[in-house]
Amino acid sequence: MYKLIDGKAHSARLRGEIKLRAEKFTEKSGRKIGLAVVLVGDNPASQVYVRNKIKACEETGIKSFANFLPESATQAQVEELVKSLVNDANVDGILVQLPLPAHLDEKAIMSLIPVEKDVDGFSEQNMGRLCLNEKCLVACTPNGVMQMLRAEGIEIRGKNAVVIGRSNIVGKPMAMLLLNADATVTVCHSKTANLKEICRSADILVAAIGRAKFVTADMVKDGAVVVDVGINRNSEGKLCGDVDFEDVKCRCSYITPVPGGVGPMTITMLLYNTVCAAERSL
Ligand code: NAD
Repeated sequence: MYKLIDGKAHSARLRGEIKLRAEKFTEKSGRKIGLAVVLVGDNPASQVYVRNKIKACEETGIKSFANFLPESATQAQVEELVKSLVNDANVDGILVQLPLPAHLDEKAIMSLIPVEKDVDGFSEQNMGRLCLNEKCLVACTPNGVMQMLRAEGIEIRGKNAVVIGRSNIVGKPMAMLLLNADATVTVCHSKTANLKEICRSADILVAAIGRAKFVTADMVKDGAVVVDVGINRNSEGKLCGDVDFEDVKCRCSYITPVPGGVGPMTITMLLYNTVCAAERSL
């Protein structure tokens, strides 16, 4: 019988801890922890993400600074805004919602965020530190996966972990985190040969592909832990993951559902990173 990893419950528990830490920070510093969010343009998905992040801040006692610029904003305007947030002592974390409109130089803008305020963990310095297994702010989604694995008491050391997907925001940092936790890690991607066999060797299988129901039972070893990062829509417009949940579940020891698995942890880890950034500034 498989165990469902309840991302909502893990997220709620962690948000409780974050709230307490935020209160302690205010007692010590006399100010609230601050997270600045920058949204350029009117991408509807980005607007939803930003709204959810602001709401989550309010619920945990973190002050949010919402900065909205129009689609037509120039490179200079966005850079000026980010620089002002970098110099603002009330801002502990800066999040620039991606993707930025195509006319903007994303890399140049992101490089303005100093490592200590990079709560998305996407900067070269934070990614580099992660590779070196040094203290850093870790990308939220893979860090959320690690939090859940640890909280469930799932052994990682010495296990075969397979990550499907090599993106800079999920697959690569996920692989690094598992490696740093002493797993033997294989990273698969769209050009991988023998994907099925490699997946079948996994004690821990993480799917971060972006293809609905891609992982089927014949790709899963008996007793595997299956983590589904994917967020897709099926033909009826319903949310579904990269894993064919109904097909795979009986093979697993643990499995994350979609929705209600990895998703709820992502924003929570953003709050977590913001609290860590603030505490380090004291
Ligand atoms: P991406 O498109 O940047 O990367 C997808 C990866 O999948 C690539 O590395 C590619 O090589 C690999 N891939 C594609 N087709 C493949 C195939 N046929 N076989 C093997 N590998 C294949 O996507 P991403 O940003 O890493 O996101 C992946 C998924 O996770 C998406 O569904 C995204 O919506 C979701 N996501 C969820 C959260 C969350 O909070 N739960 C956060 C970020 C991303």
